Amino acid sequence: MTLYRPGPPGQNPQIPALSLLHPSLPQFIVPLMEAHAKEKETVKPIAPAPVFRFDEIKWTHMTAVGILHIGCLFAPFFFSWSAVIVAAVLYWVVGGLGVTLGYHRLLTHRSFETHPVIRYALTIFATMAYQGGPIQWVGNHRMHHKHSDTNEDPHSPKHGFAWGHMLWVVTKDHLRRDAKVFAKDLKREPGMVFINKYFYMPQVILGVILFLIGGWSWAIWGIAVRTVVAYHGTWLVNSASHTWGYRNFETNEGSTNNWWVAMVSWGEGWHNNHHAHQRSARHGMRWFEFDVTWLTIRFMKMVGLARKVYVPDVDFNSRPPAK
Ligand SMILES: [Zn+2]
Ligand SMILES: [Zn+2]
Repeated sequence: MTLYRPGPPGQNPQIPALSLLHPSLPQFIVPLMEAHAKEKETVKPIAPAPVFRFDEIKWTHMTAVGILHIGCLFAPFFFSWSAVIVAAVLYWVVGGLGVTLGYHRLLTHRSFETHPVIRYALTIFATMAYQGGPIQWVGNHRMHHKHSDTNEDPHSPKHGFAWGHMLWVVTKDHLRRDAKVFAKDLKREPGMVFINKYFYMPQVILGVILFLIGGWSWAIWGIAVRTVVAYHGTWLVNSASHTWGYRNFETNEGSTNNWWVAMVSWGEGWHNNHHAHQRSARHGMRWFEFDVTWLTIRFMKMVGLARKVYVPDVDFNSRPPAK
């Protein structure tokens, strides 16, 4: 019988120590011990839960989000119907076509393909939501899908509703991760890297144009009010659609389907469906789950602007409802 001999010092400190205690250990035990020690070494420690701390605030984000909210306080004094119409149209172009159709279903989940000109146009529309550049946004969202409702989720309401809704936006990542690592596909595109770097420019240019045409009324309603309403629409998907509503699918996190979130977020409120079938171009899956972005994709397909539209085959009649 061959006895275990300790290896060179520092190779694996646990095994020599054990072999000294049990010098007659047979050779076949050694690989088992090594495997066990290796497993122990690679076990990931549980990440700490994120918390809102004053000294962790990202002040550039806090200032931008704060100014836009303060701008809304002036909105009643600059009311005009033309400004409301401008804000509503921009809410659709930026929130519906930009963030929901572009950033989320096209860039993050590749639910369909479209012409590069449309793809870049949707991306530029989305930058005007002032939610970050495409690489940053996509990276953050993929991080959310990978670690939903765990301590590694960047915005889970399990760590406080206000945290999941908006505090995470103005706080440094508690694990100091670079969200861009999760969007390596977009990082390979010079166009996306450029837009990501100067993502604030389209919104600034839009603000100047609105001011020149419609004065403070168009600027406040078209920028501040429209951006803040879209902020909370997007944030409700992260907070309310992981808190209230029903579930069609038993997923391993707390996502829910919520009709009123779907109404303000262009169909994104059917979030449990989305977590269960992340690549699906269609989030509203049952007949009453109205999803305007799915209708947009269907229309784009009909006129030849969308191809390879991915929709999973889900039969609601033959499956029991989720708990
Ligand atoms: Zn989610
Ligand atoms: Zn998603």
